[in-house]
Amino acid sequence: MNTPPTLQIQFDLPVKYDVEIFIAGGGPSGVAAAVTAARMGRKVFLAEGHSCFGGMGTAGLVPVFLYFGDGVNFLAGGVGQEVYQLLKQRTPRLYLDEPLAGTVGVDAEILKRIYDDMMTGCGAAFSFQTHLIGVQAANGRVQYAICAAKSGLFAVKADLFIDATGDGDLAAWAGASFEKGDLNHDLMPGSLCSLWADIDWEKGRDNPSHEHYLEQAYAEGVFSVLDRHLPGIYQVGEHLGGGNLVHTFGVDGTDEVSLTQALLGGRKGMEEYQMYYRTYYQGFDKMTLVATGSLLGIRETRRILGDYVLCLDDFKNCSVFEDEIGRFAYPVDVHEARPDAESHQQFAEEFKRLRYPPGKSYGIPFRTLTPRGLDNVLAAGRCISADRYIQGSVRVSSGCFITGQAAGAAAALACETKLWPRQVDVQELQRRLKGIGAFLPNAR
Ligand SMILES: Cc1cc2nc3c(=O)[nH]c(=O)nc-3n(C[C@H](O)[C@H](O)[C@H](O)COP(=O)(O)OP(=O)(O)OC[C@H]3O[C@@H](n4cnc5c(N)ncnc54)[C@H](O)[C@@H]3O)c2cc1C
Repeated sequence: MNTPPTLQIQFDLPVKYDVEIFIAGGGPSGVAAAVTAARMGRKVFLAEGHSCFGGMGTAGLVPVFLYFGDGVNFLAGGVGQEVYQLLKQRTPRLYLDEPLAGTVGVDAEILKRIYDDMMTGCGAAFSFQTHLIGVQAANGRVQYAICAAKSGLFAVKADLFIDATGDGDLAAWAGASFEKGDLNHDLMPGSLCSLWADIDWEKGRDNPSHEHYLEQAYAEGVFSVLDRHLPGIYQVGEHLGGGNLVHTFGVDGTDEVSLTQALLGGRKGMEEYQMYYRTYYQGFDKMTLVATGSLLGIRETRRILGDYVLCLDDFKNCSVFEDEIGRFAYPVDVHEARPDAESHQQFAEEFKRLRYPPGKSYGIPFRTLTPRGLDNVLAAGRCISADRYIQGSVRVSSGCFITGQAAGAAAALACETKLWPRQVDVQELQRRLKGIGAFLPNAR
């Protein structure tokens, strides 16, 4: 695309908030960061672009939270465990009883209310429909976040800034280096998740796996594209299903034109999947589309380059780090960038091979949260410093609770000690994290 012409504008912005910690994005990582920092007594403002907290798990209708544990230990201790327990209490039928791997189906409206209560209860300030659109930064330090909301443009002054946008917007706009996609810049596909009614889950129990029907359905003209990777529909209510169905290949989640095309394609694709399920699956013959996500499900965009880049060898070696802020165990899950048989084969082989037996995990060092060249910015959630393989693991919600909580605690400790985040005493950070329930077996 040609570089568009530029327009220079100068105007005064109201500085609407003056806080210690500004957080962009209220998905699992942003909520965990805000709740942790506010509970540690810091003055926090969080800007969320959408109309609720939860990001992909609520507005994006992602239907399931995976792997809070490693089969022996509960890894996402602290805020993650709190959310997990509340979901389990309020939707017991959606709790899939895998001892300590901890998987729970997501009723998005209940999850929204859980986050609302946690955020209003912790004392952090926040507003919805409030987009971070830029930063004012100089010499590796951000001074102001620039936001756009219904009242117009405004600035937020803060000492420290946490990027929990998933896409690394804040850190990238502040000048951080990042990587995006594979060597060809291909990205994992997005998915437009969805909510379906009138599913008879009892009848559906014995349905065979998708491999059985996908090729047949394609041959019979149900699908316009043969995508062999179908995560499927998960139970999210008595007769409700959460669909993780329509891959949107080629989408770039940092470009609104690309997002628009993907949303249009995703909604169109629902008709094909409705036909597929109604035709081939017991118990799904009456299923009806209730909603598609109001956020497109994005798996991969920027990976901010931090002081350490977590990598595949760390997964293979179950690495232990002196500065680890948590441990994680979800397999490497890098969805294929293209819907061809070879790409699918590679995905399936890696997903089967790059996983742990019970009790194994890898450490997440604090240095993956500190973007190189920036003093007062922390990254959390999907955009932390990791290679593509590890991003394919740590990106799931439970991993985002761990990194969000650590970013919030580090920011709070930095404020308390008047240091930059990368200067904080890591053992003290680990002690504080342990105090709120983090799983840190290797910390002294
Ligand atoms: C299709 C799909 C299926 C998945 N399946 C699973 C699964 O089965 N189990 C699982 O555990 N995880 C799953 N995940 C992963 C998980 O849902 C996400 O990776 C996780 O939610 C990322 O958390 P986050 O906090 O980094 O970002 P997000 O959840 O993306 O939240 C980011 C938030 O920031 C806001 N935001 C973004 N930019 C701005 C801005 N500039 N200004 C203000 N606000 C902004 C967004 O509105 C959003 O609310 C899936 C993801 C996708 C896309």
